[in-house]
Amino acid sequence: MGTQGLAIVPLRGHFFYFNYLCDKGLRTPLRHCPWIRIVLHFLQPGRFDRSMTKHIFVTGGVVSSLGKGLTSASIGMLLEQRGLHVRMQKLDPYINVDPGTMSPYQHGEVYVLDDGSETDLDLGHYERFTHSPLTRDANYTTGQIYLSVIEKERRGEFLGKTVQVIPHVTNEIKRVIRKLDGPDVDVVITEIGGTVGDIESQPFLEAIRQFSLDEGKEQCLYIHLTLVPYLKAAGELKTKPTQHSVGRLREIGIQPDILICRTERSISREDREKIALFCNVPFNCVIEEKDKDFSIYEVPLSLVENDLDKLIVKQLGLPVGTLDLENWRDLLHRLRNPKHEISIAVVGKYAQHFDAYKSIYEALDHAGIRHRAQVRIARIQSESIEREGAERLLAGYDGLLVPGGFGERGIEGKVDAIRFARERGIPFFGICLGLQCAAIEFARNVIGLQGAHSTEFDKDTPDPVICLLNEQREITEKGGTMRLGAQPAVLAPESKVRACYGTDTISERHRHRYEFNNTYRRQYLDHGIQFAGTDPEDTLVEIFELPAHPWFVAVQFHPEFKSKPTAAHPLFAGFVQAAIERHAADKDRS
Ligand code: GLN
Repeated sequence: MGTQGLAIVPLRGHFFYFNYLCDKGLRTPLRHCPWIRIVLHFLQPGRFDRSMTKHIFVTGGVVSSLGKGLTSASIGMLLEQRGLHVRMQKLDPYINVDPGTMSPYQHGEVYVLDDGSETDLDLGHYERFTHSPLTRDANYTTGQIYLSVIEKERRGEFLGKTVQVIPHVTNEIKRVIRKLDGPDVDVVITEIGGTVGDIESQPFLEAIRQFSLDEGKEQCLYIHLTLVPYLKAAGELKTKPTQHSVGRLREIGIQPDILICRTERSISREDREKIALFCNVPFNCVIEEKDKDFSIYEVPLSLVENDLDKLIVKQLGLPVGTLDLENWRDLLHRLRNPKHEISIAVVGKYAQHFDAYKSIYEALDHAGIRHRAQVRIARIQSESIEREGAERLLAGYDGLLVPGGFGERGIEGKVDAIRFARERGIPFFGICLGLQCAAIEFARNVIGLQGAHSTEFDKDTPDPVICLLNEQREITEKGGTMRLGAQPAVLAPESKVRACYGTDTISERHRHRYEFNNTYRRQYLDHGIQFAGTDPEDTLVEIFELPAHPWFVAVQFHPEFKSKPTAAHPLFAGFVQAAIERHAADKDRS
């Protein structure tokens, strides 16, 4: 052994001692020392990482829409509040490469991340509940997994082997799960989309089964979310669907460690015992999650009441920490004790579909929490405004919000709604397509360009006030080809938005192809529009407002993706504040 080797010996000794401490759960003070982490990571990265990052897998059974995303996010939040570093991930079994090409009817909103990835709306819950940094590694679909396996096959990386679901597809799934491991990560929470028993989810379940075999059982925790329905006719809760769903999991070799049972009514001790016995889990690992009618932000607290967080840290041998829920309790207190009440009309194409504008509704709630206002949201179909008129459908609201969207249906209704808000001094907030409709409305009804339109809807319009971005003109593929993700903007000093943000530059997330047409800027300025935000080169209009109006703000980006219950987005806060003022003024008048 040379001198170098001799030097390594004591280091290795320390490493094994450290690992021993880790295994004993005594690592809290040590692991926060960055030097120890870095040195050990380089000494033996594989082993060190394995001993550091634990994995929680959340599966769902019985029916879809049980709120797996919310439950996973709540678990993440509770672990963070115990001082742990958490990463969140969702694996979706559908074959689309991402949800960007799916209709909101099919899939709800497409949630956009800073890096421009178009992801599942559950990632919105993850960002609202936790501080887990999300990138494209946080959401994989069957489509992406297969795409990557097939690309490897084309490059000859499988060396002549027959490419199969096991092991090639399952290896790829395990690889993307491990991507989130790291010396600074205590727990990765991976939610498996779909319901146990679906054909599509089988490779994912098989991969997470293998995962504990590869990494060690003590590194992994399987949580299964199921439904315990109440049968009116029988007058009782039924545990059989849960038994069947766990049975399916056990058939493929996954024994859940914890069951979270969604239910309308409290589960009796007797029923919990029955579930525990038939599903082969200890009694204290059957956790009740009762429906929450008031707010989704109650979910983490109800899980704490049932000791889920304690159970998880104990089972994974994680440092216990102390749970700090001060912020969260304050947030719920504000929600429960509002001082104002306002109503906001959201006029969109998918008004009847609650998930289509999920983050918008959430962001309005956050602004309500901030101002202690109960925000009543009326979801209004834009086509009904075309039929019945804005006056009839919009009178009495304290604010109008027009969200993003695609396609021509309902555009004229949105334009009429914006005209109504502009002329009556009702606070207006236009987002993405909402900005584009506001530009069309202003051109037609104020500047006098009657035929003004977006070329998305009328290719031959005489006045294309909204048109394709130059870099978009040649693009024919639909998936992932828009202007996507975080982009910087510079704010005008004397603008309402500058006052809301309190900074000169901002970064917001985008998802669009069309853009305000700069050749019309002069005419808008001459008629009282202020371009309150542009990209740093001043080539793209990102925000315009109407200074003469109480609150008329249109933005080309999606601020709703960056709002949190504990930190409302500044523009949503400004909009709700304006609506509160409008409401008070209306009351004084009447
Ligand atoms: N359809 C518009 C565009 O592509 C707006 C997109 C949006 O609202 N997200 O530019």
